[in-house]
Amino acid sequence: MSGIDSLPPLREVIRTHDLAAKKALGQNFLLDLNLTAKIARLAGDLTACDVLEIGPGPGGLTRGLLAEGARHVVAIEKDARCIPALEEIAAAYPGRLTVLQGDALALDPARHLTPPIRIAANLPYNIGTELLVRWLTPPDWPPFWTSLTLMFQREVAERIVARPGSKAYGRLALLAQWRCDARIVLDLPPQAFTPPPKVSSAVVQLTALAGPRFAANPATLSRLTAAAFGQRRKMLRAALKGLAPDIEDRLRAVGIAPTERAEQVGLEAFCALARALDA
Ligand code: SAM
Repeated sequence: MSGIDSLPPLREVIRTHDLAAKKALGQNFLLDLNLTAKIARLAGDLTACDVLEIGPGPGGLTRGLLAEGARHVVAIEKDARCIPALEEIAAAYPGRLTVLQGDALALDPARHLTPPIRIAANLPYNIGTELLVRWLTPPDWPPFWTSLTLMFQREVAERIVARPGSKAYGRLALLAQWRCDARIVLDLPPQAFTPPPKVSSAVVQLTALAGPRFAANPATLSRLTAAAFGQRRKMLRAALKGLAPDIEDRLRAVGIAPTERAEQVGLEAFCALARALDA
């Protein structure tokens, strides 16, 4: 028995089910159930929510989410070896855990989930950014989720919350902060994981806003920031010249000096420029 529930400690689960970590699947497990319960609490009040978890592995965070009262957890795990361990958790929390085996990039869990939906995960590092970008760019806004509580490598977490003028500031920060509140809520050293990864990690909390902070067409904003940060060392008048022949005038019209570089320009100004490009 372990602290937060009546299931065996995670080291025992790993031994019983022979879950030696596989690097190719980004398997760095959290085995401290107090820590996984803490991460679950950072996700907010779960009692009236369904939670989508990607990559439950042996189930440490899954157990945290359930012990913290999640109404229903839907967990997508690619590694078939983990499924029997996860089914044991499902049996301990009848009707509250649905385990789907497959690739989170290919599976659509929508029919298993009822709003309001929160997403919480200690993400496999190799698909973390791709999943985040997908969640941040749905066809319509607000998205199907109300919040994301996600573990990333610290460097990726910094790119999500970065402010203008910093090296980490770029497309990911703009995309995340345009329609969400984004902040780092927990730092974790490599030793928190088994096996320890090479770098530190951090949990980022993103809360969906009802609408964008500043109006802009998503496709135009994406094209604009791709061009601006694709050549981030160049002045904007050069980096953006392919977008409009009179780009210098349009930059000046929205108050951006044509000699500025992308990393100095804030979200509001990028949105104003996107509107000017569409005008
Ligand atoms: N949540 C567990 C924890 O905190 O201990 C495991 C986290 S581990 C960093 C990432 C998990 O994602 C692994 O269990 C791995 O098998 C799983 N995974 C890797 N690629 C996946 C994919 N494409 N779809 C779903 N799960 C995947």
